[in-house]
Amino acid sequence: MKESIAILGSTGSIGTQALEILEEKDQLFDIVALSANNNYHLLAKQANQFRPDHIILVNQKHRLEFENLLSYKPKYISYGSSGLNDFALNGDYDLLLNSLVGFAGFMSTYNALKRDKKVALANKESLVVGGQLISETDAFKSGKLIPVDSEHSAMLQCLVGEKSEDIQKIVITASGGPFRDFSIDQMGEITVEDALKHPNWSMGDKITIDSSTMMNKGLEIIEAKWLFNIDVDRIEPVIHPQSVIHSIVEFKDGSSKAQLGPPDMKVPILYALTYPDRVEFPNQTLDYSEAFNLNFYPVNLKQFPGLKLAMNAAKEGGYAPAVLNAANEIAVNRFLKKEIRYIDISLIIEKSLETIERDKVLDPQALFEIDKQTRNYANTLLR
Ligand code: MN
Repeated sequence: MKESIAILGSTGSIGTQALEILEEKDQLFDIVALSANNNYHLLAKQANQFRPDHIILVNQKHRLEFENLLSYKPKYISYGSSGLNDFALNGDYDLLLNSLVGFAGFMSTYNALKRDKKVALANKESLVVGGQLISETDAFKSGKLIPVDSEHSAMLQCLVGEKSEDIQKIVITASGGPFRDFSIDQMGEITVEDALKHPNWSMGDKITIDSSTMMNKGLEIIEAKWLFNIDVDRIEPVIHPQSVIHSIVEFKDGSSKAQLGPPDMKVPILYALTYPDRVEFPNQTLDYSEAFNLNFYPVNLKQFPGLKLAMNAAKEGGYAPAVLNAANEIAVNRFLKKEIRYIDISLIIEKSLETIERDKVLDPQALFEIDKQTRNYANTLLR
């Protein structure tokens, strides 16, 4: 029997690419659920094509218009974030592809793992904010959480057949974003339009900004720490502008393994869906008939203060990554709305980390409280 897949965040960049893969490879999965936050037009179009039993639309404002766009009658339509949380907890699926954006995605990952389901994880915040809680679930310990992100997929692929105690270091590659060659002064002049242009990857607005500040790499370092149970001190970011090597694992005998490919998220998405197997797919491959270079540059943490803050928060552990993540989400959002300058993003994060108290015992409820408190605080700064 075919396994069933639920795709949360099906209208986003990862969700739409996953559906393109599943359209081509329709023998792989039954698509049993799709969800979107706001984009009800695309959600209805996807639902009409793939006919899942369950559809979840978080923003209920266009409920009627949405239902009118459907050309079939699904078994369940749910609304609101409660609909989303309820689905992970009670819905029928074998694999959950979590491509939700932001901390809103954590509960779905956690609830699915608590039920011993497999999760293909594209939601960074699940591990950034809730890594400790997630790492304590039995499903996580038995390898049921599979990363979708290109860097973590690369690490996983390098680690197949290896023992985790043999890892000496993980080298996580970063494109460096569009401002890699900027001076500190130039960083002060960056506009929203400048920051939304990413040289290699095409992604949503939030992650494009995070990539330009290198906060994205900071969040990925926190994820890698949990996924591969490795100290942050042994994870080294390096700028690799071509985004061809997606990450490197160095072993205790001095040997390194890297995973390579053109920058295309379909490769790691497909791998997460079929792991530990590989499936034939017409993805583009590297062309060695023409000369090309692969370059590496050390990261200047003064130029990218957000990355430094993230590495410190990762070392501190506890609720520090939750504060970092919430403050960053608010700051990026405010930058996109042109309320603050580009360089204020890291200032807001730094101030939040200095101010928000966080010496409580770790549990999901308190995570939500710290998250909310940080958001309120980060929203008042520089007003
Ligand atoms: Mn990535």
